[in-house]
Amino acid sequence: MSDLAVELTAPNGRKYTQPTGLFINNEWVKSKSGEKITSISPATEQDIVTVHAAGADDVDDAVKAARNAFKDPSWRDIGGTERGNLMYKLYQLIEEHKETLATIETWDNGKAYSVALNDDLTEVANVFKYYGGYADKIHGQVIETTPAKFAYTVREPIGVCGQIIPWNFPLLMAAWKLGPALACGNTVVMKAAEQTPLSILYLANLIKEAGFPPGVVNILNGYGRVAGAAIATHLDIDKIAFTGSTATGKEIMKMAAINMKNITLETGGKSPLIVFDDADLDQAVKWAHVGIMYNQGQVCTATSRVFVQEGIYDKFVAAFKEHVKATSKVGNPFEDDTFQGPQVTKLQYDRVLSYIEAGKSEGAKLEMGGEPFKDVGGKGFFIAPTVFTNVKDDMKIYREEVFGPFVVITSFKTEEEAITRANDSTYGLGSALFTENITKAHRVARRIEAGMVWINSSNDSDFRIPFGGVKQSGIGRELGEAGLEAYSQKKAVHVNLGTKL
Ligand code: NAD
Repeated sequence: MSDLAVELTAPNGRKYTQPTGLFINNEWVKSKSGEKITSISPATEQDIVTVHAAGADDVDDAVKAARNAFKDPSWRDIGGTERGNLMYKLYQLIEEHKETLATIETWDNGKAYSVALNDDLTEVANVFKYYGGYADKIHGQVIETTPAKFAYTVREPIGVCGQIIPWNFPLLMAAWKLGPALACGNTVVMKAAEQTPLSILYLANLIKEAGFPPGVVNILNGYGRVAGAAIATHLDIDKIAFTGSTATGKEIMKMAAINMKNITLETGGKSPLIVFDDADLDQAVKWAHVGIMYNQGQVCTATSRVFVQEGIYDKFVAAFKEHVKATSKVGNPFEDDTFQGPQVTKLQYDRVLSYIEAGKSEGAKLEMGGEPFKDVGGKGFFIAPTVFTNVKDDMKIYREEVFGPFVVITSFKTEEEAITRANDSTYGLGSALFTENITKAHRVARRIEAGMVWINSSNDSDFRIPFGGVKQSGIGRELGEAGLEAYSQKKAVHVNLGTKL
């Protein structure tokens, strides 16, 4: 094998060819600087493989390829139906290679294989099918003005899109960004997160096989401050779409200002989940568990602040702890009954542990967990599911995004208090509420400052529904029809039928 691909056997016995290069213009190339990233299995702490990391020169090559492709008739002029066909072909290829893609995702990221296969990969495939269906339904309007004049609008692609994605759902974040971008006719330079560089490279081969012309999709690995910054500041990139931390999102906004790039940001959260005393307690407990512990708690919409009305507070806390004990099995992510795998990296693991220490020293009550989970062969970045109560609204663990299997539970007296405290955050991404009173449900939903509200559930995400945040949780929307707005712009064409000067 060349330096640009290696044969690997994953821990579940699956053999496959892992690309390791930069995917530019439908070719695999080495990084010019020779910089590399070594991917580590967070479950075993062993190296998996080393891949090429892009520098600014490589980003520049990828942007040139994307710009040429954007202008090339083989992409510019093929029309929506043909773009949709290519996307449908990609959907079929993803379905065919689902097990391999899920295997790589689990090995590199640590998420349970059952989750990677049944949740992540199902949605990845569906996103391409869904947006492929939209590709020939992206219309403008005809707008009459005076009897002698009218105008029509055309929806045009934005151009070359830089897409910077995180490590918590590597393929899913890639699909959320590629789907609408390609449906609208853009070209893309995507940078994966340095913590999870592998699955996206396998996807790149499927993109080529599906028949996308060279340069339409370019995929790079690389470090944020090098390759990410080179994308955010590149003068020939027209749009930046980013998912990750709020701090990095702010930096990207500043960098993108250099040529006033169009921008979409999906950033952090500290999402509230409110349980009113008339709720179905059993359901509230189960959804609250999924809402925070799913994907090792590494979910931007995780409902990490739970507010329970005082009359049912003690019952809720007891039932929640019981449920976590019974269902949150921590273990080898390739085992069928594992619910929770390791945190993605040592850095994230240490970060969660530091919040556990902060919770203890701030005087919150540790109800369960609060330590590394060492029963998986003594290796790996596993953390026991952690629950704190007796939290105060000014505590660090109450205010800051932890991004781990870590929840704070607090009580409230009135509906007004629940709304005020739920909204007392710089973030506004997800939110959940539990009540059997339909009027109260909709009344509260309208007053929560968040991009998404779940009534009697938590963390539902569906590719047909807009996803995004308010306040410091982001700008713009992904998914659904709204996702197309982020990747197209309207041109107004004025027509004069007879007004003479
Ligand atoms: P990050 O925001 O720094 O990284 C996300 C992506 O941005 C990666 O691809 C990274 O390489 C890139 N990046 C980093 N710095 C950059 C820069 N200066 N210019 C351009 N690109 C840059 O996130 P992280 O450091 O991996 O994680 C830190 C915290 O962020 C987590 O603990 C969590 O709280 C949060 N996070 C949120 C999400 C989310 O989905 N909203 C995802 C991952 C992490």
